[in-house]
Amino acid sequence: MADVEVIRSGLITCRHGFSTRLGGVSQGIFSSLNLGANRGDPMENVMENWRRFGAAVGFDGTRSVHGRQSHGVTVRVARRADMHAIDEPASWPEADGYVTNEPDVPLAIFTADCTPLLMQDPAAGVIAAVHCGWRSTAADIEKRAVEAMVSLGAKRSDIRAAIGPGIRRCCFQTGPEVPEAIDALLGGDTRGLYGPDRDAPGRYRVDLPGAVHRRLLQLGLEEENIDELGICTMCGPDRFWSHRAMGTERGSQANVIVL
Ligand SMILES: [Zn+2]
Repeated sequence: MADVEVIRSGLITCRHGFSTRLGGVSQGIFSSLNLGANRGDPMENVMENWRRFGAAVGFDGTRSVHGRQSHGVTVRVARRADMHAIDEPASWPEADGYVTNEPDVPLAIFTADCTPLLMQDPAAGVIAAVHCGWRSTAADIEKRAVEAMVSLGAKRSDIRAAIGPGIRRCCFQTGPEVPEAIDALLGGDTRGLYGPDRDAPGRYRVDLPGAVHRRLLQLGLEEENIDELGICTMCGPDRFWSHRAMGTERGSQANVIVL
């Protein structure tokens, strides 16, 4: 049986990890480390997968802060009381990002192509987990997340950011609405972030993790504090869940950080 694979960033000094699909107990289209509830995978398998992933990252995988994601811009300050088991419905309204300064409160967001962003200010003891799909990024969830960290005492020049596995320019084909939205977000500072798709007239190829990276620089983070892991989920369907590659017949990655 394969071990759980945990992808980490060398910049982040607290417990954290980006999951892959390897090392779980789920079967069939969920084989094997599906961490998403309510996708049709038996809940006992999802819970066992969370226990394994938690053990591999170094936290109790039975409870974390997570909820329904809506490709919006809501970022919530999470407390211990907001932790719940994966099989309990979240008591919170939807959110696409969480921040906290409390120890042993794992923050989790789910992805299967969208860009996962984990952040930490090691000096202030503040962390964030953010679900950066193109719609949330265009609506500037990165700004909301950085501001929420600052509200807890973080300093922009001390914030470290890890941009995890997500769909990259090699695979992210879009209509003109995505480059237009990225252009508006970044005020035209989009050199190298998108271009016409040579194989498909009227379509584009967009570097979404690159756009997240560029936005974080605009928000005051330092280049040396940003780690873009450069891994494309759609390029590796044996290793990652990819919505574009698999549609709704798939599991989900989880991306977790904990003080
Ligand atoms: Zn790719």
